[in-house]
Amino acid sequence: MEQEFDFESRIVSSEYAPSDADAEVSLRPKTLDEYIGQEKAKANLKIGIEAAKLRGEPLDHVLLYGPPGLGKTTLSGIIAAEMGVNIRTTSGPAIEKQGDLAAILTNLAEGDVLFIDEIHRLSRSIEEILYPAMEDYAIDIIIGKGPSARSIRLPIPHFTLIGATTRAGQLTTPLRDRFGVVLKLELYTPEELATIVKRSAKILDIKITDDGALEIASRSRGTPRIANRLLKRARDFAMVRGNGAIDIEMAKTALKMLEIDELGLDNADRKMLSAIINYYDGGPVGLETVAATVGEEAITIEDVYEPYLLQIGFLSRTPRGRCVTRLAYEHLGIPFGQRRRPGDQIPGQTDLFGDGN
Ligand code: ADP
Repeated sequence: MEQEFDFESRIVSSEYAPSDADAEVSLRPKTLDEYIGQEKAKANLKIGIEAAKLRGEPLDHVLLYGPPGLGKTTLSGIIAAEMGVNIRTTSGPAIEKQGDLAAILTNLAEGDVLFIDEIHRLSRSIEEILYPAMEDYAIDIIIGKGPSARSIRLPIPHFTLIGATTRAGQLTTPLRDRFGVVLKLELYTPEELATIVKRSAKILDIKITDDGALEIASRSRGTPRIANRLLKRARDFAMVRGNGAIDIEMAKTALKMLEIDELGLDNADRKMLSAIINYYDGGPVGLETVAATVGEEAITIEDVYEPYLLQIGFLSRTPRGRCVTRLAYEHLGIPFGQRRRPGDQIPGQTDLFGDGN
């Protein structure tokens, strides 16, 4: 099958894109009060931070998990700011050798936050350095080789590790067990996202009406990163087609042009759902098969496509694989249980099969 879809250019991808860089820095909330939504996680953190401050100790190690773009990096920065300490940022794949991590750990100051993004991608041997570091604030170093080799224990500053991951299930048990605070970030409601859109519009000096903000919010797949991205695209559109202000009509027209429907689905979602319907009778079908059919990595399907489709009840996960639900059939305009003939057009979809098969 032809792969006509370019994931990199997908506007509603929750994954970080280089074009987000300029705005992400300025749009990042700096305090817990500015951080919208995630009330449960925030309440937990507030207590943890308060208690740690009272004891005059660093905060317990924190694990943040949830789909990309929900604010894990942002929250880590806020935790460090609220504790009044510095944050050192790195990521699982960036730490290649045990020595890399040992160097980072020994260079921390007392109380600092070490943020490791994509912590599930740390290699096993590097994880082993983390265990004593997290538990005893020490690292074990081997000196010498062969029979004369001996291990010495070096103390390191008391620090807080904040790990972020899109897949908590892939963390090894010994690592997961060493986090005192484990917080799951949830997809945001349209109302919360509308507040985020209005806040971002204010910072970026964009005029937007309440219903314009809600329109963008309800098509942002529960994800602040996407909401901010759609806001910027709508602003560009409003500048070219109008006077730069975004009202509901302007928001609707801009999103239509971007081929994002009223639920925030784009062509890639519609293509995946219709492929499951057309090739596998709506499922159940295994993740790997879906991935191969749409020409996408299984991990991307799981992290980026599925959380929202599961949340809105368009997809269900069963032990035998993924199933498309009746709701999704209705949304695509396909009678439930029926296939479309190859070549039929799905509303809002220009080229379903690509290869005409
Ligand atoms: P993650 O690390 O989970 O991929 P980020 O922390 O990088 O996500 O968040 C992506 C963007 O979304 C940030 O630039 C920030 O502006 C915005 N954002 C995330 N969470 C919130 C929130 N709760 N309130 C306001 N803006 C948010």
